[in-house]
Amino acid sequence: MLTCFRLIKFFCLTLILLSTISNAKNLDQSVVEIADDIYSFSTNGEYISMFVITNNSVLVFETMNSHHAKAMVSKIKQITKKPIKFAFHSHNHWDHSSGGKVFLDEGASTVAHAEAAAWMKANPYKDMVAPTKIWSGNLKKFDLGGVQVELHYFGMNHGLGMTVFYLPQSKIAYIADIVTPKRIIFTVAPDFNLREWERSLTEVLKLDFDQAVYSHNEHKKPLHQGNKADVQSQLEYLRDLRFAFYAELKKGTNPILIPGIIKLPKYENWVGYNDWLAMNVWRVLTDEFMGPFPWRPETK
Ligand SMILES: [Zn+2]
Repeated sequence: MLTCFRLIKFFCLTLILLSTISNAKNLDQSVVEIADDIYSFSTNGEYISMFVITNNSVLVFETMNSHHAKAMVSKIKQITKKPIKFAFHSHNHWDHSSGGKVFLDEGASTVAHAEAAAWMKANPYKDMVAPTKIWSGNLKKFDLGGVQVELHYFGMNHGLGMTVFYLPQSKIAYIADIVTPKRIIFTVAPDFNLREWERSLTEVLKLDFDQAVYSHNEHKKPLHQGNKADVQSQLEYLRDLRFAFYAELKKGTNPILIPGIIKLPKYENWVGYNDWLAMNVWRVLTDEFMGPFPWRPETK
């Protein structure tokens, strides 16, 4: 009888312990303070946003969708009573730029580059609303409640109006889609301009930052946190892919066979390597023969 009681007690304690660990993990996965008053936030580890608490308000970078946005607002309200003033969109794609209404309902303005804003207006989507503030050009600088914020547009690298957000005081950047640590290019590089993408990354590297929040990140430890080396790795992957394709072409290999031939073992541990590498090569191949631009080695 006593043994039975001890066993039940043991199982109860184990359950409590497991549930505590699981709660801690969930909390850890949803919000991480990466610097004073600067947080990365994710609902499922797939999509990651950033928010910043200033002297008098909260700034949000990347709304994603209403589900994600509502969870983020709820988390922000647990941390501060300050109002959310601005929610910034990185680019037009609906899987990033939806959910803006959640922030409008909070009294915030939503902000996007003119190219992204024009597309959002012209292509209504059920969870997406056009931004209430539009910026244009290559660079805008703001001081918002003592926090300097820079919006950088580096060109037509991915989607429309792709904006890299940079906080010079804390040396932190928020970068969507053009850098995804530890993952090769998603399938056939949808809506990417490979040549401009590569050039843009050389521009991103000129920004003086130590930490970065990436909208997608396959580095699991610690979740959310990235750095400048991730940009360099992304750039190297693009170059290695391109050079491998043109090395085969130069040998006289039938172009149609090249996607089945190329191996890049340096990246075999990156997500997507087995499934997408051939698709990545197909994309370089089609750019060479059809456009938008050949991405030859001499364009480095
Ligand atoms: Zn995108």
